[in-house]
Amino acid sequence: MKNRFIKNLTNKQPTKDITSDDLKFKIPIITSKRNIEVKIDEKTTFNNKSIPIIAGPNGVESRELIFKVGKLLKKNKIRILRGHAYKPLTFPYRSKQYSETKSQGMDWLDEVKKYLKLLIVTEVTEIKYLQRICNTADILQIGSRNMQNLELLQEVAKTNKPIILKRHFGASLRDMLGAAEHILLEGNEKLILCERGITAPHTHRNTSRFILDIQAIVALKELIKYPVISDPSHASFWAPWVPALTYASISAGANGLIIETHPTPSKSAVDPLQPLNFKQFSVLIKKSRKLAKIYQKKII
Ligand code: PEP
Ligand code: MN
Repeated sequence: MKNRFIKNLTNKQPTKDITSDDLKFKIPIITSKRNIEVKIDEKTTFNNKSIPIIAGPNGVESRELIFKVGKLLKKNKIRILRGHAYKPLTFPYRSKQYSETKSQGMDWLDEVKKYLKLLIVTEVTEIKYLQRICNTADILQIGSRNMQNLELLQEVAKTNKPIILKRHFGASLRDMLGAAEHILLEGNEKLILCERGITAPHTHRNTSRFILDIQAIVALKELIKYPVISDPSHASFWAPWVPALTYASISAGANGLIIETHPTPSKSAVDPLQPLNFKQFSVLIKKSRKLAKIYQKKII
């Protein structure tokens, strides 16, 4: 662990905005000029040339579900499957249809990874699950609710696996970059930051819980040299808006996307309004490929 003691601070006021002191002393690694590419495997890198799509259901509800979605990804030439076997919820009540599938869910992810040759993203909610998750996952996700769970960040960083750090919906960019520094200080540079929507006084429609902060993507890209990805599904909470927000994210310079998809969205055990069905997903990928070309990038 490096020395965290800082001398010569000029700005001692509390602030939520990024100050020149922050840039100089507190977020030095993240603001370094070196462009960081996060390589997952030989064919898949988060950088300024490709836009990897991370797609899948919310939860790993069943083996059948995860295989169906895996096959959809293969059909669309998408390489990264997401799904959570460990799943934090806003309320403690779960539908009867679904409880966390935990290590059983991880075993299904393992199978789909082997049979379909997909990369796996899944969320780490607690340190005690880390070992099992690491046996299968290619990328570890820190969910928005855990953005400042510092002990979790440190332990996850120590695995040296690529990490997606989601911005908490109430966090400033300063808070987010502070959390990111906790990961980087452990010596793990395989960091991907994710904008997933923020809370705001009004949200346009009662189903849209959050607002996708497109400006955050642009601002982060201006500030840092790490990949910044966007999650239009969790931001909008509303499938009909996901395509527009996806295209906006690509135009804002997002280096990747998280898209929820489910064979029968209305049957999704969690957040059934937000996943795209398979047809909608395939159309989205097709159109995104065309749009990415305009920016000399490739959807992968
Ligand atoms: C998710 O990715 O399934 C999720 C719960 O995201 P967030 O932490 O952004 O709400
Ligand atoms: Mn989700």
